[in-house]
Amino acid sequence: MATTHESESVRSARWRERLRRMRLLLATAIILFAGLWTTGELPGLPALAGFVLIVAAALIATGGPPTMPAASRRDAPPAPRVGDPLIEAVLAGLPDPVVALNRQGDVVALNARAGAVAPALRRGEPVSRGLRVPEVLEAIRRARATGGAQRVEFFERVPIDRWYEAIVTPIAPAGAAGGPDLVLLAFHDLTPLRRVEEMRADFVANASHELRTPLAALSGFIDTLQGPAKEDPAARERFLAIMQVQANRMARLIDDLLSLSRIELNAHLRPDKEVDLVAIMRQVADGLQTLARDRDVEVKTAAPGGPLIVLGDRDELIRVFENLVENALKYAASGKQVDIRLALGQAVDGKPEARVAVRDYGPGIAPEHLPRLTERFYRVDVSESRAQGGTGLGLALVKHILNRHGGRLTIESVLGQGATFTAHLPLVAAKETLPASTIA
Ligand code: ADP
Repeated sequence: MATTHESESVRSARWRERLRRMRLLLATAIILFAGLWTTGELPGLPALAGFVLIVAAALIATGGPPTMPAASRRDAPPAPRVGDPLIEAVLAGLPDPVVALNRQGDVVALNARAGAVAPALRRGEPVSRGLRVPEVLEAIRRARATGGAQRVEFFERVPIDRWYEAIVTPIAPAGAAGGPDLVLLAFHDLTPLRRVEEMRADFVANASHELRTPLAALSGFIDTLQGPAKEDPAARERFLAIMQVQANRMARLIDDLLSLSRIELNAHLRPDKEVDLVAIMRQVADGLQTLARDRDVEVKTAAPGGPLIVLGDRDELIRVFENLVENALKYAASGKQVDIRLALGQAVDGKPEARVAVRDYGPGIAPEHLPRLTERFYRVDVSESRAQGGTGLGLALVKHILNRHGGRLTIESVLGQGATFTAHLPLVAAKETLPASTIA
């Protein structure tokens, strides 16, 4: 039923179209034969017969295929124009750098992000002139030839090392012949991903190297104790003491590695318990008194009279200040004095913050090392760090803990004049009115 209905409506539409196209002819024929008949030039019957004949001839002449091709010609998309506002608007709305090319490989449109990735690209110019990456140009050629999407990775050294992925997608209307009308070239920046991969690989290599060294020492001593030193009680005592130091070092390293991974796992969770930095600092200073005495260093602590409240994890913050003060005692004992200063300050965003500065008067740190000190396993002097029982992870832990607390670490140092490590933490409350005092 539906088909019959459809064919009837198609047929009547076709008739209406034929009559529309014949309307001028019909009107002329009616006027002509009506005039001839009324003026008596032609009798009624021949006039009618002549009219019918002309209409029939006209119907046959217009009975060809309907005029659809003209309509479909109108619907076919025109070849994309350089700077086409619609294409430009679509690209501008995309989050990735994207370039649109025409059939000839000329740039039709590009968004601002693509301009940043390939600044030499110009609208209306061949893509090969502005983008001198052979892998990408070859992928564009393949996409145009095969009509299939292509993906390539490439590396740029200038201005800085960056890894990209280029996706080339040919776009052609259904059933179109003669290759795609438009080719879209999109870039993805793979650099952050690659950096993480590199860091992970470096980390595993460093961690296993750090563990292997004490392990090699331990197995060496075990061999000696089983062999040459078997019957030598004095050597046995000495070796056992060294083995103990190496075993402790391995334990510390594993402990630091586990802490780092736990803090990284919780990096997105901001601690929500109120803790007092003054009380925490007092505990840390008390705990390190023995080490300070051993190193012949005086630790002076200055703090506001009242508490400095921040949202934090007590154990993690103890770890931060222990690391900073311990480092000052280990690497800057020659300065004979370490100052711990707790104070109020203003963060970069203008909000109040608590500042805990640990200042020493030791050898200081050369400026080229400062930006790298918080990297895992980075040490200014590896043998000194090892001699001091360091793992090279202390400042990495400090940085991660402070980040998790919404804070940061700043380091200032002048060679020969000591160093200041300052922890900045967002403040919840402080009794600002109380005068500064010295604890302990
Ligand atoms: P480590 O376990 O080696 O102490 P850290 O991450 O705590 O590792 O410190 C990294 C390096 O920074 C240390 O090896 C040392 O070279 C340097 N460093 C840290 N604190 C100080 C300081 N107060 N004075 C001089 N150098 C320091």
